[in-house]
Amino acid sequence: MTNWHSLSAEQALSELASDPITGLTTAEAHLRWQRHGPNLLREKGAKSPGRILWEQFTGAMVLVLLAAAVISLLLGEYRDAVAIIVIVILNALLGFVQEFRAEKALRALQKLAISRVKVKRNGEVQEIPASALVPGDLFYLEAGNLVPADGRLLTSANLRVLESLLTGEASPVDKNAEVVLPEATALGDRRNMVYKGTTVVYGRGMAVAVATGMDTELGQIAAMMQMVEPAPTPLQRRMAALGRTLGLMALLIVGAVTLLGLWHGEDIKTMFLTGVSLAVAAIPEGLPAVVTIALALGAQRMLRRRALVRRLSAVEALGSVTKICTDKTGTLTQNRMRVAALALPQPGGGFQLATPGVAATSCPETALLLVAGALCNDAVLRRENEKWSYVGDPTEGALLVAAADSGYKAPELERACPRVAELPFSSERQRMSTLHRLEGELGCPIPKLGEETPAYLLFCKGALDRLLPLSRGVWVGGEVQPLGEWQEKLERLQAELSQEGLRVLALAFRHWSSAPGVLDEEGERELLLLGLVSFKDPLRPEALAAVATCRQAGIDPVMITGDHPATALAVARELGMETQRVLTGKDLDSLNPEDLAAVAEGVTVFARVAPAHKLKIVEALQRNGHIVAMTGDGVNDAPALKKADIGVAMGRSGTDVAKEAADMVLLDDNFATIVAAVEEGRVIYDNIKKFLQYLMTTNFSEILIILVGLLGGMPVPLTPLQILWVNLVTDGLPALALSVEPAEAGVMHRPPVDPRSGIFTRRLAGHILWAGVFMAFVCLAVGYWLWRVQAASWQTVLFSTLVFSQLAHVLAIRTGTASLFAAGCCSNPAVLGAVLLTVVLQLLVVYLPPLQGVFCTVSLSRTELLLVFILGSLIFWAVEVEKWLYRRLTTG
Ligand code: ATP
Repeated sequence: MTNWHSLSAEQALSELASDPITGLTTAEAHLRWQRHGPNLLREKGAKSPGRILWEQFTGAMVLVLLAAAVISLLLGEYRDAVAIIVIVILNALLGFVQEFRAEKALRALQKLAISRVKVKRNGEVQEIPASALVPGDLFYLEAGNLVPADGRLLTSANLRVLESLLTGEASPVDKNAEVVLPEATALGDRRNMVYKGTTVVYGRGMAVAVATGMDTELGQIAAMMQMVEPAPTPLQRRMAALGRTLGLMALLIVGAVTLLGLWHGEDIKTMFLTGVSLAVAAIPEGLPAVVTIALALGAQRMLRRRALVRRLSAVEALGSVTKICTDKTGTLTQNRMRVAALALPQPGGGFQLATPGVAATSCPETALLLVAGALCNDAVLRRENEKWSYVGDPTEGALLVAAADSGYKAPELERACPRVAELPFSSERQRMSTLHRLEGELGCPIPKLGEETPAYLLFCKGALDRLLPLSRGVWVGGEVQPLGEWQEKLERLQAELSQEGLRVLALAFRHWSSAPGVLDEEGERELLLLGLVSFKDPLRPEALAAVATCRQAGIDPVMITGDHPATALAVARELGMETQRVLTGKDLDSLNPEDLAAVAEGVTVFARVAPAHKLKIVEALQRNGHIVAMTGDGVNDAPALKKADIGVAMGRSGTDVAKEAADMVLLDDNFATIVAAVEEGRVIYDNIKKFLQYLMTTNFSEILIILVGLLGGMPVPLTPLQILWVNLVTDGLPALALSVEPAEAGVMHRPPVDPRSGIFTRRLAGHILWAGVFMAFVCLAVGYWLWRVQAASWQTVLFSTLVFSQLAHVLAIRTGTASLFAAGCCSNPAVLGAVLLTVVLQLLVVYLPPLQGVFCTVSLSRTELLLVFILGSLIFWAVEVEKWLYRRLTTG
């Protein structure tokens, strides 16, 4: 194995046959990709189809059933035994199909490579999926990146990397491309190397990939790291607990039923099988699985709406969100910055406003402002379709384009005035500086140091309020003027521009006649302000409607931005947000957590905040009982994303670190996507609730029928196989179809689900009680009557009425409050199909002679069948009346 750290950068490059200027060609990269495979760690922990199938046959309930089949065999009841086994198999297949779908959906979500990397290929900077990286590729690193592969550094500027994943070292280490290290250097001390999976926390750099995928250091230990089973979501946990309680209750009742039957003189064999079947039917063992399936399929639907769910718990939490805290730039706005105007201080005391273009260069100060903006810049200029464009940060890109439009092309400027040091931008500092050595012509007058032309120039750009305290004067008409009155004038101009919703940056410079030594924040003092640049960033077209939807849905959108309060307010107003109060980062610093919680309640705009403030805001809102979604993109946003109930990272502009910390990633960085995801979350919650409602009502009515029938002196009203059949056909298909129920019309017109009330509301419990009693009563009434008149068909009628009632019930509860007719009877074809299929199956059981033998049914006359249909549909109308009453009561 090559010891890359003991080679110089040039040696490493030649060893890897890569070119430091152009990188690999696409063709060569493709060849290497075929040789080395994708840059991925081998996947672990996925459930194989075989394992899913095996689990279907090893559940407690299935084992009980299989035991019952064996006992039936021993007792010589071959037909029963075979029927039970067939039912077990069908049940298992159904379970398998459901779980396999869910598992596939989950895997698909995990596979989506969210990580992208900037590389140099064919001499151009490109962005490619991290999985496409090959040895020899030149890749760029900046704060927030997860290092995509093992690499030998070629350049580094203040690069600091957190390597705790590999070395256990908790603090970031400084990296340096220049050094060459002895062969024996330990992994943690290889300062000229970066390793896959570690995190860049500061600075920038470029490296050549030396190993990818499983060949990396991380790959070698990946085999040792077991993928942790994801923790169950709160809803899954609650469902599991509910399932256990209900199961226990059902067991007690089943015990009572069995004893009652025996006491009535039924024989032991019948009562044993009845007891087992009833237990199987009544115990909701599938409840947690159904929640998982609904969440997983829901996650898939969210993906179609451009929200990638990373943790299933987010899906359910979304339904309860009460505050969506969102960044402004790029999420509510397009982040397509364009320079609107350049503001130059004039000797007369006012400002000259210029727009970029050739004319701008006629004024030397404007030219210097443009040059400063182009040099103090990390974006890369590009020519596309005869127009200037860029790769990188849009604010910086806008400056590059403005300069290029005026004839100042950044690459040429950089050749004349190469960068020798820098202090990078961070949301905390809200400024950046670059130090340049003057070597050639800049194409604009260079400010003089007395008579001397300076040798070194520092350009600084950032928020005016950050630059003012660092400035000693203003550069006006080629001369230095003291800050004095200019301070107020600049602030006033900034306020005016901000009120139009424009972002404003200040630009400044400083010069030296000789190298100023190591550049640190001291070097950013004594600045001379050059002027202001304002940027227009249009709103995202969907944002307006999304904000309105939020408010209808009882959710407050909250804007959190690093921008100036006036800019933020103007944009918020444009979006139709309430804007009574703005808090700034400074305000946040001065408030203690209790006071902040009290104040934060009504605030919709937080401006000039740093990422650390986001955590405080989340905590304050959570303290007030809110369920908070919080967006973020930078490294420092990660704690707030983790703390929020739903951390939302930006898929395009977000750093890898933010994505890792988030529960959900917005593939289009769009605020409207969060709102769409909330809607899906609510639908999923509704559907799980409907499933619960359906399942429990069914189980309750079955138990009641057997219990009351026996108490009323009837023989056991349903045979064991009939019970299992009801369980299979009604709990299976129609219930499954409920999980794809579309959104109800009013989902975004009602307040969020209160997470404290839980899914099991009073209304739900009430429904289960009355509907269970209603169905049991109808079935028993007709069964009892026919039994009394000694009709041979009494049991078949009772059994079929029960099955049809379940089907009518599932149709009725498709809508929670609206009438099914208002929602459209055919709006969920899956449910309709499942119901029709079940009707056909039931008719087969009733009329097909071989099945008649198994299920103890007899052919029904036409009148009897009609009766069964009519009685079965009664519950549908009863539920419609319930919904009508509910509508009357809640709106009245
Ligand atoms: P949002 O939170 O809505 O996305 P923002 O986060 O873009 O807004 P930041 O990127 O933190 O805000 O920027 C905050 C301030 O820092 C800006 O208002 C601007 O004054 C300054 N700023 C932004 N980008 C740069 C940059 N590339 N160089 C120097 N200063 C910048």
